[in-house]
Amino acid sequence: MGKQKIDSNTILYGVFGDPIRHSKSPIMLNRAFEEAGINAAYAAFHIKPGQLRSAIDGIRAMQFRGVNVTIPHKLEVMDYMDEIDEGARVIGAVNTIVNEDGRLVGHNTDGIGYVRSLKEETGIDLRGKHVLMLGAGGAARGVGYALAMEGAAHIYIANRTRDKAIELAQSMSSFTMATGLGLDEIVDIVGKVGLIVNNTSVGMHPNVNEVPMDTSLILNTTIVSDLVYNPMVTKFLRESESRGVTIHSGLGMFIYQGAYAFEYWTGVSAPVVAMRQAVIDSFNT
Ligand code: NAP
Repeated sequence: MGKQKIDSNTILYGVFGDPIRHSKSPIMLNRAFEEAGINAAYAAFHIKPGQLRSAIDGIRAMQFRGVNVTIPHKLEVMDYMDEIDEGARVIGAVNTIVNEDGRLVGHNTDGIGYVRSLKEETGIDLRGKHVLMLGAGGAARGVGYALAMEGAAHIYIANRTRDKAIELAQSMSSFTMATGLGLDEIVDIVGKVGLIVNNTSVGMHPNVNEVPMDTSLILNTTIVSDLVYNPMVTKFLRESESRGVTIHSGLGMFIYQGAYAFEYWTGVSAPVVAMRQAVIDSFNT
């Protein structure tokens, strides 16, 4: 594929967040457009609190085709959409906007991106599975909903702030069996689950020596998954792997949430191999 050229027909895309300069999305999506031969450009926009509404109006005025939305705007942005798809509405967050001729439609690709990556990389069949999720923040909402849609039979949610785990379990109970717990209550649960997912930010750069739970409790038949992708393999995954379990890193979720966004925007299959390589290369430089 030749190098991308920006001209008068280039279709614009971007990501809105605060902070945003660390984002790998521009590298990944520009590589995807280039690989697919699409005349498009994707940039990062530092949108500060209080400026989100104007920024969203700008999508309509300047006819951007699509935008990703990241921390801290995923909730507020819902107020400015013309339509929100069912998954994003249930999760309560939008991370992808599609501009359909001035009509802005909000989607959430985090949870479906997570599940696609988990299934492809581990081969897991989630039907009937019991799952332990650590953390009850924004990412946990999307992941929990997607796991429930794939047929997970019982989702245990353990969080440092126990009340938030109970609240999330209640909101998920219309989709599957869900129980909220404190982190100190997981000892009795760990042996019952086939999958453990770290949805907390524990272990993320720069706190790379932290783990979200005691890995000596984990049976070697469990799959251990981490949403954190910086570092690509966290201490939690390294320790778990040394106990003989199958591990799954957050990099795949990042790639596939972007791949689904690309597919919503272009209708073309995302070139995921090239997208993954672009992100890995950017970590290595
Ligand atoms: P969030 O809404 O701020 O939630 C953070 C969660 O982590 C909460 O459950 C919080 O517990 C818990 N937590 C934070 N520090 C902790 C500590 N020291 N000990 C125990 N628990 C702690 O964040 P988020 O948006 O859900 O993101 C969570 C992680 O997922 C981040 O690392 C993010 O980078 C990652 N993520 C990855 C992808 C991807 O594409 N791979 C996508 C989205 C998010 P409390 O409720 O008690 O505060």
